Amino acid sequence: MKSLKELTRPNIIALKPYSSARDEYNGAAASVFLDANENPYNLPHNRYPDPMQRDLKAELTKIKKVSTEHIFLGNGSDEAIDLVYRAFCEPGRDNVVAIDPTYGMYQVCADVNDVEYRKVLLDDVYQFSADKLLAAADEQTKLIFLCSPNNPTGNDLLRSEIEKLLNTFDGLVILDEAYNDFSESPSFLEELDKYPNLIVFQTFSKAWGCAAIRLGMAFASAEIITILSKIKYPYNVNQLTQEQAISMLQKYDEIERWVKILKEERTRLMATFVALPCVQHVFRSDANFFLARVSDAGAIYNYLVAKGIIVRNRSSISLCGSCLRVTVGTPEENEQLLKALQAYGK
Ligand code: PMP
Repeated sequence: MKSLKELTRPNIIALKPYSSARDEYNGAAASVFLDANENPYNLPHNRYPDPMQRDLKAELTKIKKVSTEHIFLGNGSDEAIDLVYRAFCEPGRDNVVAIDPTYGMYQVCADVNDVEYRKVLLDDVYQFSADKLLAAADEQTKLIFLCSPNNPTGNDLLRSEIEKLLNTFDGLVILDEAYNDFSESPSFLEELDKYPNLIVFQTFSKAWGCAAIRLGMAFASAEIITILSKIKYPYNVNQLTQEQAISMLQKYDEIERWVKILKEERTRLMATFVALPCVQHVFRSDANFFLARVSDAGAIYNYLVAKGIIVRNRSSISLCGSCLRVTVGTPEENEQLLKALQAYGK
């Protein structure tokens, strides 16, 4: 791996970050706060939240088994995606490499930040080759984006290829594990100490059932986390979100129960899909959704919309021709979808 100094944009290394009132004083002893130009009325929403989310991170360490200096929290993983571009990629000069197809925000953030985005097509079973990604990279490649389980394909990427990439790429490897809770593969979080060039993204939006509160996590070396924290908006995770996330972390059993139900429903839904006349192929899934190749994706999508059931038509995406992406819902919702498709015919 290149040194982090070589990988980080010079202006970010030189940056003097904004220092908020809550950065300068964060002790609990004081009772009169006249330092942040807040309104003294309307407790508790009148006060700025903790910019470093200390209580939330302390709870998170118990579940994730990584210490707080390895955790960055953002306004969804989408914030972390944008920040890695802003921290490491010089606009108009650097580039990133990513598997294709994958989650669309990696490219959108590349475009916003004027960073060249190089796509490398997956194979016909939606796997990638580390060698092919490395062949697409050059001196100006700062980041490689992987997503496992991948969106929209649903499958885990091969662990041996991920390891090969981590061992050979001299930039940073972003591994988006938004859907890892639904997979049998262990998270790469356990490997953080082994790979200084690894950044793992996870989110509260999927297994945790908290898409509305916008909370994403990035896990990496303390040095990388320091850089991301330096350039984030001072109060990027609001107080309501921090409180709600802490209360979710205290009911981890419930999340495990949801995941178990969703995995069972995934199995049932996919097995029934295979036998539907309008379904040609159901792709392997390690996530809370799956991809199905159907007879006519546009027509079936519109047919379902008319019945008030919305799936995602992914037929315009690379390697996903004629495919619909179906999120696993409650047993009742899944039943409605199956009934509608059974009535559709071929
Ligand atoms: N990563 C992947 C792979 C996703 O599919 C999504 C949401 N569709 C996200 C990240 C976004 O996560 P968040 O809600 O935390 O921004």
